Formats: sequence, C-alpha cells, structure tokens
Amino acid sequence: MPIPASQPLPPSADSAEDRTGEAVIDRLVEANQRYAADFTDPGMDARPVRKVAVVSCMDARIDLHAALGLELGDCHTIRNAGGVVTDDIIRSLTISQRALGTRSVVLIHHTGCGLLSLTEDFRHDLAAEVGQRPTWAVEAFKDLDEDVRQSMQRVRTSPFLLHTDDVRGFVFDVKTGLLREIDPQG
Ligand SMILES: [Zn+2]
Repeated sequence: MPIPASQPLPPSADSAEDRTGEAVIDRLVEANQRYAADFTDPGMDARPVRKVAVVSCMDARIDLHAALGLELGDCHTIRNAGGVVTDDIIRSLTISQRALGTRSVVLIHHTGCGLLSLTEDFRHDLAAEVGQRPTWAVEAFKDLDEDVRQSMQRVRTSPFLLHTDDVRGFVFDVKTGLLREIDPQG
C-alpha cells in the first residue's frame, strides 16, 4: 500500500529534540568538541587506501565500516535513499575513480528498506501537495534483487567511469548483519 507524501511521521520524530530532550544538533556539536579534543591528524591522503567505493542505502541500521571491516581512510561511502544508482551517485563515482583513484564498486541494498513500501505515487502526491513537480524520480522498488541488478547495470554501462569490471552488488540483512551477493545475471 502506497505511503502518501503527506503522511505524518510518528510523534517521536516530530521534534528536533533527541531522547534526552536536548536539541539534537546541539548534542552533535558537543560530541564533536569531545572528539576533536582527542583528535590527532592521521596524515592521510584523500585517496581511499583500498581503492573502493561503497554505494549504500542511507538506512540508520547499516554501519558500513563495521559491517565490511573498513577503517578510516579505506573507502568512499556514497549513500542515498535506497542505495540506488542515480545521476548524482554516478557523479560521485566518477570523481571517486577519476580524481581519487578508486577501482572497485560495491552496491548495497538491504532488507526492510523504506523504498519497498513506496511507489511513484509518492512523487505525484508530493507534486499535488506542494504545487511543484520534483525533478527526481522516487526510484522505489518492489524487488530488492532486481533493483541491485539494475544498479549494477547502471554502473557498468556508465560512459563516465574508468573502471566497471569490479562491480558487485549485495543485499544486507538488517536482522542477521549478513550480506547476500546478487548474481548480475539473475
Ligand atoms: Zn533503505
């Protein structure tokens, strides 16, 4: 069942305060001050050490570095709603490869993704509500595996990328933490 663009969020998401009742962004800034107090310049190059770019859904349950054994400086992480390969993902991948030396691309969708419950009606409802049609597609999908294949295909066929031979796609299971690789041929 489609979710209308105007559907209200649950009450807990309605305010800018976090679970302690303080303004969430103030808490982030305070945390940063503690972080910076112990911070020493790691002296790293901007080029990812492991020459890999990871494209993933923005989902809050996916800790990409922990899930993939990655450390600071290892990779580029490029995230959006769904982890779908949009023009802007291609823009980032192009810069990642051509200016910053990455060669491999990992694509990650996941179980329980919010985009599974949306349709393009979201976009139409949004246009009706605000009186302006978004220039972007919702990129909703019903079949995770098929959407990972579609994303792999978009990367592999991009004329802008230098390296399209090492592109692999996965579905991350938010209940088990395991990745399941998707066969590009289906
Ligand atoms: Zn998601």
